[in-house]
Amino acid sequence: MSYDFDAALKNYADVLVRVGANVEPGKKLVFNAPVTDDPTILRLCRYIVASAYDAGARHVIVNWADEQEFKIRLEHAPDDSFTEANEWNAKALHQVIEEGGSAFSLRVADPSLLEGQDAQKIATYRATAAALRQPTRKLWNQGIGTWSLASASFQPWADKVLPNLPEDERVAKLWEMIFQVTRMFEDDPVAAWKTHSQALINRAKALTDKQYTSLKFIAPGTDLTLGLADNHIWLGGGDTTQDGRHYMPNIPTEEVFTMPHRARVDGTLTATMPLIYSGTMIDDFSLTFKGGKVVDVKAAKGEATLRKMLEIDEGATHLGEIALVPHSSPISQLGTLFYNTLFDENASCHVALGAAYHNTMKNGPFMSEEDYEAAGGNSSLVHTDFMIGSGEMQIDGIKADGSSEPVMRDGEWAFDI
Ligand code: ZN
Ligand code: ZN
Repeated sequence: MSYDFDAALKNYADVLVRVGANVEPGKKLVFNAPVTDDPTILRLCRYIVASAYDAGARHVIVNWADEQEFKIRLEHAPDDSFTEANEWNAKALHQVIEEGGSAFSLRVADPSLLEGQDAQKIATYRATAAALRQPTRKLWNQGIGTWSLASASFQPWADKVLPNLPEDERVAKLWEMIFQVTRMFEDDPVAAWKTHSQALINRAKALTDKQYTSLKFIAPGTDLTLGLADNHIWLGGGDTTQDGRHYMPNIPTEEVFTMPHRARVDGTLTATMPLIYSGTMIDDFSLTFKGGKVVDVKAAKGEATLRKMLEIDEGATHLGEIALVPHSSPISQLGTLFYNTLFDENASCHVALGAAYHNTMKNGPFMSEEDYEAAGGNSSLVHTDFMIGSGEMQIDGIKADGSSEPVMRDGEWAFDI
């Protein structure tokens, strides 16, 4: 395929800034930018900064960070020091969000970077960093400020995704795939995103109106009843701030999602794609739930890492998200494992162990953690997505009167909106 790469890269920057973070004129943007030796990524970062100013940002605060630095820390820092995270960074971000500003992160993650590193240190650090971010996450849940996250192609990632291509073609091919699934080849990518987002919003609203008491999942290795709390809300196609600013936390996004009832999940769930957690691949795994809690785990690969993750806190053993994605989604159709949750979760129906989003329940953002849990919400320092969807997934919605109706058949929506 031949196309104007630089134009696509610029369009990508514009979509990330104007649709993703949706930078508010006159406000600040914290841009978490990766340090790499890849000149294309540096160019993209500069386009993002320029695009943010063109969109009206008052000040773009660029936080350059090198992912290798964390690996160096794991290997050289004192073992007991992983209860430390960057507090001033977290405070600076919090202040920008409090003022109604935005945060945008461009993630370039080497899927293999942390292989073989100490899972306990990584888990401790993650819990510490997540606790520091908690107050800011609460602001976002309440509709104050915006955030968004996207990825860029680079060699270690492309090597993992496309090992069968010649090495010098992989990065370009992965860019092309990213552009394809993020709608960069549409005539007007920003307009295409608005249409796509509206379709997801309509689907989510239709599901919210149904107020199913539970969903029943049947697929190879999966037989699960997943309870839904009273007043749950399905979301999708982005979030809206209190002052009506629409933004997309993830690009790409294909999902509609809500919170499972933390105490009403029963049965067995088998993952349909590997999960990369803290740089370790967990593959071929299934979880058995009783009364909402994981009571059994089986994994052909990475079982120790999976068990460590479940030990982070009580909430890590309960589900916090159920997301539905049709099997015909553009990412699914590529049939590629991206080794990157941002892409893989949008290829497939998925669940997350750990924290639920308070805004998936009516008045949830204004409830204390205790009240939220009592209403069926789940709290945790982790939120770990894994894929359960396939072309063989059947989902029924169970209504309050006990009757049921099809929601998905063979991985596709079973009702029109
Ligand atoms: Zn999701
Ligand atoms: Zn999730």
